[in-house]
Formats: sequence, structure tokens, C-alpha cells
Amino acid sequence: MNTNQNTHRSKLETEAREWLHKRGVTMQDMAELVYHLQAKYHDNLTMEECISNVDKVLGKREVQHAIMTGIQLDVLAEKQQLDSPLQETIAADESLYGIDEVVALSIVNVYGSIGFTNFGYIDKIKPGILKELNEPKPGVVHTFLDDIVGAIAAAASSRLAHSQADDILLDD
Ligand code: MG
Repeated sequence: MNTNQNTHRSKLETEAREWLHKRGVTMQDMAELVYHLQAKYHDNLTMEECISNVDKVLGKREVQHAIMTGIQLDVLAEKQQLDSPLQETIAADESLYGIDEVVALSIVNVYGSIGFTNFGYIDKIKPGILKELNEPKPGVVHTFLDDIVGAIAAAASSRLAHSQADDILLDD
């Protein structure tokens, strides 16, 4: 399968991909989450297919916007540049602050509502990169990033499931 179909990238898409990379999240990391979610449902699922589906998700404008918005808030919180009390709330990833999940939902739904189930599941299990992102490190804020990455994997899993059902309208 060609994993490089998406060759005409906007500035927004290029930046969104770059920001994920700069924050330590690779295509391989996200593809592994998709594999984790989908391997039991698809015989002979390959990492190439997982990467290809993540790639398609990253091509969606609403996904790029969510990535940029969430990562920007994480970075500003790391630099202590938000106003109080939002600064403390985001820096501490307070459990009653749910806007990180709300931002992630704009990603989850791009390939239909089965992404929602995948998102809830992966957020609970936290495999691979999600576990790493959730380990507290001094001076590092991943309040938005963990949900964004989980949501990208959930949406890619949803796309994979629909594509195996021959849905030709997937990326319209
Ligand atoms: Mg979070």
C-alpha cells in the first residue's frame, strides 16, 4: 500500500505534522496504537495499513486545527505563559478540566461515531506512546497532546474499519 499518497500538503498540515514530531510523537507511535485497536478485527493487518490510515487522518483540516490548538496550549503552559487560573489548571492536568477531551472529539468524529468507542477504550488502556505521554515529567505538559494522539489513533481505526467495508466515500 502506498503510504505517501498525500503529497500536496498545506502549510497548516505541514506544521501540524511537524508539531506532533517536535512533541515526540511519530507516525510509528500512532500506527502502533491503531494496530493495538484493530489487529483483533482484521486478519493480516500490517503496520503499513495502520500508517496509511494515520496519514489520511492527518490530512483533515479539522484534525490539523485540533493538533495546533492543543499543542499550543500545552507549550504555553510549559512556558508559564497562560493567565491564572488556566495556567495552573492545564499545567496540573486537573481531572475536572475536560476541554482537552473536547478538543480531541473534533478528531474522533471525522470518520464517524465508531471512533468514539475506540477513543474511550484507548484512553482507558493507554498503550504505547499514550503511557509515555501520561508519565509526569517536571516542566513537561502533555494535557492536550495525549488526548489528541489517542483521538488520531481512534479516528484512523475507524477509517480502517470503514475502508475494509469498501466505503468509497471515506475522504470526501
Ligand atoms: Mg489530557
